[in-house]
Amino acid sequence: MLLRRFSPIAFALVAASFFFLISCVSYSPDGKSVVTSRGGKSLSIIKKMIPLGNLNRRDPKRMKPRYITIHSTANPSPTADAEAHMRLLHNAGRGRLSWHFSVDEDSIYQTLPTTEQGQHADYQGPGNRYSIGIEMCENKGNSREKTLEQTAKLTAYLMEKHDIPISKVVPHYHWRRVRSDGKDYGHKACPGFLMDNGKPGKKWKAFLQRVKCYQ
Ligand SMILES: [Zn+2]
Repeated sequence: MLLRRFSPIAFALVAASFFFLISCVSYSPDGKSVVTSRGGKSLSIIKKMIPLGNLNRRDPKRMKPRYITIHSTANPSPTADAEAHMRLLHNAGRGRLSWHFSVDEDSIYQTLPTTEQGQHADYQGPGNRYSIGIEMCENKGNSREKTLEQTAKLTAYLMEKHDIPISKVVPHYHWRRVRSDGKDYGHKACPGFLMDNGKPGKKWKAFLQRVKCYQ
């Protein structure tokens, strides 16, 4: 009798724990809940390293990555996808600009080895000296949702590969940009769409939760 009375509750509890065992809930920047499968880390990374000697890679320095820095391109041009950003870095014309991964809704391009310093965060500061830089594309027509999903998966993969804790997954905002001549550019509100009033807040926390879903 007692068993019969409680069995629907027991059933619901078993079902709920099974659900939480195989899935994970996080939130998109607009507050919608996102349910993902734990451990779903299938990734396809296209390696197109900036050629050595190129202006953007003329003085390669080794790095043991301790942080992962997340950026977004703030470029809404419809053609500014991950492939275009890979090409931008291969174009020596810009000079002294480099990061490790460019991500859009359906592709991830790698342009630097994760054991080499890039130029994406804070001039000669620790953001460049110790962090892997990931740029999320914001081109018109590109799904922000899928871009975030790919970025979260990539971040979880890199954390595992380089033994980087979630406390060291940071937005570009984290790094104060002081140029070698002392000029202080302060903090950049980047990635813009994951900032609240120009600073890390709820949206950034939701992104970290999403990364945890892939751990
Ligand atoms: Zn940035």
